[in-house]
Amino acid sequence: MKQRFLHFWNNIDFLDDKIYYSVVAIGTVATLMAYVMGLVQGLSLAAGLSTLLCSLWMAVLLVAGIRHPKALPICRIVLVVGLTIMLPPTYYACGGMTSGMVLFYLVTLFLVAVLLQGRTRIILFCVSLLALGYSLHYGWYHPYLIRELTPRQEYEDVLMTFCTTGIALGAMTIFILRAYNNERQRNQELMDQLSNLSVHDALSGLYNRRELFRRLDLVYKPPQQQAVRANRLKLDGCYIAMFDIDNFKNLNDTYGHQFGDKVLATVSKTLRESVDPSRGEFAARYGGEEFVCIFYADALDIAFERADAARRAISELCWNSDLIVTVSGGIVSCETGVPLDQAMHDVDMLLYKAKHAGKNCVFSVKTPDPGKG
Ligand code: GH3
Ligand code: MG
Ligand code: MG
Repeated sequence: MKQRFLHFWNNIDFLDDKIYYSVVAIGTVATLMAYVMGLVQGLSLAAGLSTLLCSLWMAVLLVAGIRHPKALPICRIVLVVGLTIMLPPTYYACGGMTSGMVLFYLVTLFLVAVLLQGRTRIILFCVSLLALGYSLHYGWYHPYLIRELTPRQEYEDVLMTFCTTGIALGAMTIFILRAYNNERQRNQELMDQLSNLSVHDALSGLYNRRELFRRLDLVYKPPQQQAVRANRLKLDGCYIAMFDIDNFKNLNDTYGHQFGDKVLATVSKTLRESVDPSRGEFAARYGGEEFVCIFYADALDIAFERADAARRAISELCWNSDLIVTVSGGIVSCETGVPLDQAMHDVDMLLYKAKHAGKNCVFSVKTPDPGKG
């Protein structure tokens, strides 16, 4: 039973629907309690019946809402209109102003405000307010319509109604706030997932091309708040290294695309391990089998050494067969004055030279012959 309830509850997509179910369920119990209390107090048959009718009305609409979730917008309107029509006769039958019925009037207005939306809410709130207010006014000028209560009955009715409506309002508010908080938490989780997906490449787990350029833009054109950090990074020296897996088409053709994907993922992992995120370094997938790493170092030679170490680490990876996977690379400095486009073009040219020099090597402008692994 609990499992079924949880399954039903967790599958409700909209916060408004959760509010409807909780509010109507609590309302059903509260009016039923009011009916039982009326019986205990020895109120008239009419008073008992009208309270019971309100409770049944809510129960029916609760079941209807559960069975036909698509009809919920109609159920909401039918519920508040029905209550607005049913409450005044109950008010007269239960003792009028001296009873606790006015508190139920307040709960009804609360339900209109909570359950409905937009223009319907404003119109029906005004209609309910006027109708219920007018029933109070009418009762005052036609006291013979109102059932007379003894002082003891007045005291008991007000006390019990206060307790019933107080508990109902408290429970409804707690349910609504809980549902709202859960919804907010769920939205936050979805937002986190979404922002994670939007910056990462699914296969390699590295940053995607869009995120690569967003981050490079921050290095090249730091906004005000990034200026201090960017200056520090520039002092350290920022370097762009581009890598491309050698003969990857051949590898795909020989071992299949699935294995190719595995190679891409493993090479990506090695590149990720060669950068230090705590210093602002990162690795990204630039294209199919092309990657970019951002290194920070005091001099080009040091950055070059790190790029070449990454290349070496890849060439030393063990595969099931006697396969050796290698990458070629280029590395440039992000010196002030060299625009990003130019830097990307330069590093691409160096990569091109590395390929022509026989692959499995890294090229930089200052170290034309980096030595082959
Ligand atoms: P070079 O050494 O000159 O770089 O040659 P290459 O074969 O590596 O380069 P080429 O540009 O000829 O081929 C790249 C191949 O990479 C072609 C394409 O099918 C493959 N590729 C691109 N993205 C993926 C991917 O996500 N998965 C797999 N399995 N293959 C990919
Ligand atoms: Mg390639
Ligand atoms: Mg390529």
